[in-house]
Amino acid sequence: MNSQLQVICADITKLHVDAIVNAANHTLLGGGGVDGAIHRAAGPELVKECYGLGGCRTGEAKLTGGYQLPAKYVIHTVGPIYYEDEHPAERLADCYRNSLMIAINRGLKTIAFPCISTGMYGYPADEAAHIAVSTVRSVLSETGSNICVTFCCFGTRDEALYRALLNA
Ligand code: ADP
Repeated sequence: MNSQLQVICADITKLHVDAIVNAANHTLLGGGGVDGAIHRAAGPELVKECYGLGGCRTGEAKLTGGYQLPAKYVIHTVGPIYYEDEHPAERLADCYRNSLMIAINRGLKTIAFPCISTGMYGYPADEAAHIAVSTVRSVLSETGSNICVTFCCFGTRDEALYRALLNA
């Protein structure tokens, strides 16, 4: 299964994959961090489609087109705010599970995740990486899907955490 998982250190908006995951906020109308970068790169058509989605709850995920991104789709999910939300570990796992299930159910072959909640939402990077890798591994083994999953880190510290987990 490890051949289906890879780690890179990159700007997620540059990836040529079927879907990139956006660490969005409840409005789905754009924000800072990776969300802002995705909206800037996708162009204004993305926010137009997002208006029609009626927001998104923590842990849920919703799919849109990728517009001017190299990725065909964006899967928007809302991570937990570490010091505010109840059961942040369960909600973070929900983000990975629900996003990946959307991609699998659509028959997508490649998906890339950013390190959800580890920026402004304050989730400790090492705990978040454990949840990301263990949840993705569970979904792949439960479904038998052969989708390829990229963990797209935005810094070498996150990249090292993920490499250690994938090699464990
Ligand atoms: P959250 O609000 O869920 O914490 P942030 O966007 O603040 O979301 O941060 C989530 C993660 O996304 C952080 O690890 C941050 O370094 C990373 N990130 C920010 N910009 C990009 C980008 N262009 N590509 C990939 N990851 C990014």
